[in-house]
Amino acid sequence: MSLQIQKALVWFRRDLRDFDHAALYHALKQAANVYCVFVFDRHILDTLPNKADRRVEFIWESVRELKLALQQQGGDLLVAYDFAEQFIPQLAHTLQVDAVYSNCDYEPAAIARDAAVAAHLKAKKIAFHQYKDQVIFEQDEVLSQAGKPYGVFTPYRNAHIKKLNDFYVKPYPVDAYLHHYAVASDEIAQQYVLRELAQMGFTRTNLQSMKLPTGMSGGKALLEDFLERISYYEEARNFPAVKGPSYLSVHLRFGTVSIRYLARVAWQKGSAGATTWLNELIWRDFYFQILYHRPDLAEGKAYKAEYEALHFPNNPAHYLAWCEGKTGYPLVDAAMRQLNQTGYMHNRLRMVAGSFLVKDLLVDWRWGERYFAQHLIDFDFSANNGGWQWAASTGCDAQPYFRIFNPVSQSEKFDPQGKFIRKYVPEIAMCSDKEIHAPWTISSFRQQLIALEIGRDYPYPIVDHAVQRALALDLYKSAKI
Ligand code: FAD
Repeated sequence: MSLQIQKALVWFRRDLRDFDHAALYHALKQAANVYCVFVFDRHILDTLPNKADRRVEFIWESVRELKLALQQQGGDLLVAYDFAEQFIPQLAHTLQVDAVYSNCDYEPAAIARDAAVAAHLKAKKIAFHQYKDQVIFEQDEVLSQAGKPYGVFTPYRNAHIKKLNDFYVKPYPVDAYLHHYAVASDEIAQQYVLRELAQMGFTRTNLQSMKLPTGMSGGKALLEDFLERISYYEEARNFPAVKGPSYLSVHLRFGTVSIRYLARVAWQKGSAGATTWLNELIWRDFYFQILYHRPDLAEGKAYKAEYEALHFPNNPAHYLAWCEGKTGYPLVDAAMRQLNQTGYMHNRLRMVAGSFLVKDLLVDWRWGERYFAQHLIDFDFSANNGGWQWAASTGCDAQPYFRIFNPVSQSEKFDPQGKFIRKYVPEIAMCSDKEIHAPWTISSFRQQLIALEIGRDYPYPIVDHAVQRALALDLYKSAKI
């Protein structure tokens, strides 16, 4: 087969792997010489308030592994610290490539950046090719019979599953074209080495001590571990003290695993656990397509317009107590401390902590969304916005506004022995399994006996759930009128 072009540049973004990669495959197949680049985009990095950001370190480690892997295959990864919008066209020009290849990104800011890059490249007569890679089905591939995007998950899921076949989860055989990798001249290569985090203004975090495996090898290790447990996923996934979920979200976020491979494995296994897990991957696609069709969500809009009228009291002290895990509700506090200490929060707890902020503390869901966006290592705009609007009842297919989680019964149900709470709220570890969910109800005599003083060692609840529940119902009812 004759090659279509001489030189191509593959621009890696949230797809930090060298296998089953749409853009890489197409570039290697079509061009005789393929260069690769990753940009630590200052447009994004400069806005991050916390310079000890686990995500930046995760990316750094994953880029390091990718660079080594590409070098072992005869290629290389140029790594820049620059403004991607201007840098990519400049580099493409310097390398004299005929085309730039990348995978689609569906967030409004990324779409705008890519449109600007495409325009700069066009002016230099360089083509820009983009491919679907980070989802199973993209925005317009699963539509209702009327040709409209779905706003409700179950019919979307049914249509998604109906459409799924071998073709859509087939891997891209990158390996067949490795001989097309090229390396840039020494002069260019030396200019774009992987600089240390400190040279970009960032510091190391606790990522390594947490033993969160990074890069393609980390994704593979977590997946292998999860596949041993996938058949129990349905039962185990709701209990934060149990190793139930896959913990692959950060790897999906940065593309160190292939969504096609994950979907194929889950689909082919077909057990109850695997099918439930596939559903979760479909939720991910669902929220991507929602965001694509509703870019105004990125401007803070409620999915359901009537809820724009919600006026939350937004007590700053309550918000701060929630952020710090000091609300006096142990499961909520354990959840927030897990987030602060590790950058991860279990899905059940994201729902409980989200509901608590909005419907118990009556704080605007956008405040919580922003806090999660800053602290979650797996932060993904579409899933985070979807999750928050679900919890706040303002979203598509959301929790009805009158369904309000009781933080104590959620705790009794999903952490019955208080194992998870004890890990993150050690100051109440001496409580019995029964007491630990609502320690303020422990008598003073018993508090003395177990050497715990509520109010001194651990806060009294900052609000009364029953009172706040009634206030939340009034708030939501008034917005609906
Ligand atoms: P698993 O249970 O193993 O699920 C596998 C994968 O499916 C996940 O890695 C994720 O990619 C996807 N997935 C699972 N649940 C959902 C869901 N409800 N919506 C979309 N995708 C899902 N997920 C993120 O990836 N990034 C976020 O920023 C994010 N913010 C959230 C905020 C709130 C308020 C809520 C309620 C949920 C949020 N989620 C988010 C969804 C979910 O909590 C995480 O994907 C999950 O906890 C990640 O852990 P895991 O990889 O072990 O999940």
